[in-house]
Amino acid sequence: VNDIEESYESDITNSENITWIEWFCGIKNHEYFVAVSEEFADDEFNLYGLSSLVPYYSEALDMILDVEPEEEYPVSTQTIESSAILLYSLIHQRYILTKPGLTAMFEQYKHSAFGVCPRMYCSKTPVLPVGLSDMRGVSSVKLFCPSCVDVYDPPPSFLRVDGFAWGTTFPHLFLKTFSIGNFLSNPSWVYEPKIFGFKINQASPIASKRKYIRDGIENYLSSNKK
Ligand SMILES: [Zn+2]
Repeated sequence: VNDIEESYESDITNSENITWIEWFCGIKNHEYFVAVSEEFADDEFNLYGLSSLVPYYSEALDMILDVEPEEEYPVSTQTIESSAILLYSLIHQRYILTKPGLTAMFEQYKHSAFGVCPRMYCSKTPVLPVGLSDMRGVSSVKLFCPSCVDVYDPPPSFLRVDGFAWGTTFPHLFLKTFSIGNFLSNPSWVYEPKIFGFKINQASPIASKRKYIRDGIENYLSSNKK
């Protein structure tokens, strides 16, 4: 957290000509964030319920929207900045589930901006950011692969970024919205362990559970087709 605040301090001097949101999204390791539209962030309906979760909510919201404070802050500017970061993350979690937010994320996804799956059989499928919780402080942002349907740690420097800003719903709603699952090549390819060329009995503890589960699903689907 200290590192985040330090980078904030050093960057703020250059932020005169850009909006708070542009500045925030431009911080190193914030590359998975998209810019929430000011129109969205300025609509009370979209922010319903957030005021009880964020200390100094109105000061924080004004900071995000680049509204100059009318009077001096009741606490340090740094405290308001921390609140603004918390509030932006909460707004972001909601925004990326809306049509404009999903579209903004799609623009990034098209260029594999979130990276690709490290699993060989996924053939560099682009991954999507996901949170393991919708609550703050549970875990860092993770990367979800639509091909193997598994989650991975992001590069180490991203492990300081809290996953709740993307939340648990985003990648799945994204894939459903854009029907991306239909375009994945051979998502069911799985590695099959062998010893001296012989397949390992599925009951063995060193056999591939993934293959066992996948075969089960495919048998189920083909028997239901008949
Ligand atoms: Zn994968």
